[in-house]
Amino acid sequence: METVSARAPAASDPAPLEPTRESRRLLVAEPCLGLGEMTALAEVIDGGWITMGERVRAFERAFAEMHGTEDAVAVSSCTAGLHLIMHALGLGPGDEVLVPSLTFVATANCVRYVGATPVFVDIASTELPLMSVADAAAKCTPRTRAVILVHFAGYLIDPEPWRAFAAERGLVLVEDAAHAAGLPGVGTLGAAAAFSFYGNKNMTTAEGGMVVARDPALREAVRQARGHGLTTGTFQRLNSRTPTYDVTMLGFNYRMDELRAAMGLVQLSHLSEWNETRRALTRRYRSLLRAECPEVSLPFEDARPSVHHIMPVLLPANADRQAVIDALAERGVQTTIHYPPVHRLSFYRAQDSAPDLPTTEAFADRELTLPLHPRMNQHDVRRVVTALREALAP
Ligand SMILES: *Cc1c(COP(=O)(O)O)cnc(C)c1O
Repeated sequence: METVSARAPAASDPAPLEPTRESRRLLVAEPCLGLGEMTALAEVIDGGWITMGERVRAFERAFAEMHGTEDAVAVSSCTAGLHLIMHALGLGPGDEVLVPSLTFVATANCVRYVGATPVFVDIASTELPLMSVADAAAKCTPRTRAVILVHFAGYLIDPEPWRAFAAERGLVLVEDAAHAAGLPGVGTLGAAAAFSFYGNKNMTTAEGGMVVARDPALREAVRQARGHGLTTGTFQRLNSRTPTYDVTMLGFNYRMDELRAAMGLVQLSHLSEWNETRRALTRRYRSLLRAECPEVSLPFEDARPSVHHIMPVLLPANADRQAVIDALAERGVQTTIHYPPVHRLSFYRAQDSAPDLPTTEAFADRELTLPLHPRMNQHDVRRVVTALREALAP
């Protein structure tokens, strides 16, 4: 991710300050920021109230409305949101939470923050790299209390099998929806969900996140724990006759500020259009890759709801991935890997006796993530596919 200069044009502008399309370096992800965000930020600075005020509340309501939930709680990051959910559910030492290993480390870390134990679950297949219900069943123990579902790459995990799985065993379903802002159905699978507005996500506030929870009591527990466990916020006290508060729980400081909320409101207004652009670019990738790189496999070939957060492909088993990454970089195309599996990271290797996750490992060993963001066009996709074809040529 590169910093966008203060004079960056809006995403819809022809971008006169940039190098030509042919020479521009294509990044895996780029934020779309423009005049709308600059104006919104300037208004906050002019207004003088810079944290947890009307804009944070407006952003929460607009986000909830877009996702068909009653309300939402803005937080400082998705990781903070996941931690607050684990905390509000009362999970702790002795409890086990099923999580995928094919995810960002934060999905498992939030379980550790409350002293509970993440138990890694394999993916269904390399064609469908979402958590496997069958492997989750095999990894359940009497200590299992919850499951964290990840909509990997922005593709909706099947709600019905997971609802049945959780209901049969009395487990709580939580969504790590970091890849899935704007995805129809997201945030309604289980008890709660956390979204990310980090700089490489489908919408961004630089850093930031949002929690949705169906049960108002759970949502209010998250809201209170977000701000030190105080019974009222600073903004409420401004307009109240009793400028005092009580603390009824051990809380955290995971608040969002007005600057981020102001950016978030502008970003949210573009989200559907940006997700449509991602869909069109993904479609173009799929048809070009099928025709020109038939040895490359494409996960998620079967239709399923998606916001196309990233473009993962699987290189042929015999390809030298580092050589492909280097060849693409030489042609101005950045690529990354989603993900180094969490159970293989040194910290987690030291915690856990090598869990059995053969499909996750097979996927992660061959995966390559191609550039995909709304500032790209169809010619950029063509450039990436040509570069990949050349990189794979013997
Ligand atoms: C980005 C990401 C997170 C963390 O989001 P932050 O807002 O940076 O805390 C968590 N889970 C997944 C799957 C992510 O991609």
